[in-house]
Amino acid sequence: MNTTPVRDLRRTLERWNSEYSLVLDQVHANNLHNTRLFAPVVAGMNGVFALIFLWLALTAPDADSTYRWKLWQCLVHVAMGISLFLCGLAARALEHRYRSWPGRWLPIFTLTIGIGFSVAIVVIDQSVTPNITPFFITCTVTALAVFMRPQVAAVLYGGAWIALALLLRHTQHNADWLLHNRINALAVCIIAWCISVLLWRKFSTIAYQKQQLDKAHSELMVKQRELERLTRQDGLTGLFNRNTFVELSTNELKRAQRQGSATTILLLDLDHFKRINDTWGHPAGDAVLRHVSQTMVQSVRSTDLVGRLGGEEFIVLLPHTSADAGRRIAEKIRQRLEVSHIEWQGTRIQVTASIGLTSATAEEGRTFDYLYNEADKALYLAKQRGRNRVI
Ligand code: GH3
Ligand code: MG
Ligand code: MG
Repeated sequence: MNTTPVRDLRRTLERWNSEYSLVLDQVHANNLHNTRLFAPVVAGMNGVFALIFLWLALTAPDADSTYRWKLWQCLVHVAMGISLFLCGLAARALEHRYRSWPGRWLPIFTLTIGIGFSVAIVVIDQSVTPNITPFFITCTVTALAVFMRPQVAAVLYGGAWIALALLLRHTQHNADWLLHNRINALAVCIIAWCISVLLWRKFSTIAYQKQQLDKAHSELMVKQRELERLTRQDGLTGLFNRNTFVELSTNELKRAQRQGSATTILLLDLDHFKRINDTWGHPAGDAVLRHVSQTMVQSVRSTDLVGRLGGEEFIVLLPHTSADAGRRIAEKIRQRLEVSHIEWQGTRIQVTASIGLTSATAEEGRTFDYLYNEADKALYLAKQRGRNRVI
């Protein structure tokens, strides 16, 4: 009957534990950071209290019955202050090594020292007062300052209660007060443990959700960059697509004209490409298109622009290039395609291209559209005159 709630509880605890494991680094970094901040502050307070008790002891009249208590308080505060100050220094030294064993355990060790001294203070206090306020304050502050697993917190606060309950009887001889303090100390330890567990769970949840959000955000950024790339590039060949090519070429042409140099445009169309698709299939045709795009990119300068207009039509803009130089580049591309081949499932596919070329000097001040039309006419002639040529 009650197996389901038990199973649910076990699952919840397992989930909490696994979420906590995922954010351990953040927990340890946070704990070390808090230790570095809090330990010196508490050490400073110990220093002030030690001075106050020393002054009270030294100025006390001879018959003062609380003289020994003041002296002991002074000594305990000095020892606690020095210990916490050293812990603070160690936390500072380990701040970037929060994954190391000392980095992980130093905050818990510091808490243990703090609680240990608070037990000592309360035990000494019993000679003058039955209250246990220092123990209460220390347990609460430690629960707020450092995140730890519930089982670690249970050992810490359980151990603290046992130590206090055992030591109290040496200084508190009134049985009622002794019982009263033991019960109060138990309540304090349980409250501190509850605070610790609540904060531990809250921190795990927030850190885990932030981690998931960061992950989703970076995945989104990758996808956005990929989308941006796809809107600018042709998916098959990686060359600029038509829109991007036209936009970049228009700017490049204007720049070349301002600088007084000629610009050449090549329009390349594969010959009888339909036959390649018909004979070997579209994947083979795609491989040919990639081969052609690579050959073109490798045949021009990195500052030249190469684009795919669509289908098996490519375009190249050669800034600072005269008609003669452009023709030599076009011939180089044409010849490289003619002599090369694509290995496709054991056979060799060969492809040739017709290229239409047009060039304009800066003085002519042609627009991109004008040059494109002229290159298109030249390409048409190249096809008409038998293909595999540059016109
Ligand atoms: P021509 O020498 O007159 O240019 O003949 P062609 O066969 O090359 O010209 P046509 O325009 O008739 O055929 C172009 C072919 O290109 C038709 C189309 O199936 C193919 N094509 C267009 N885009 C792609 C693509 O992305 N992948 C593949 N594999 N083929 C494509
Ligand atoms: Mg063609
Ligand atoms: Mg075509």
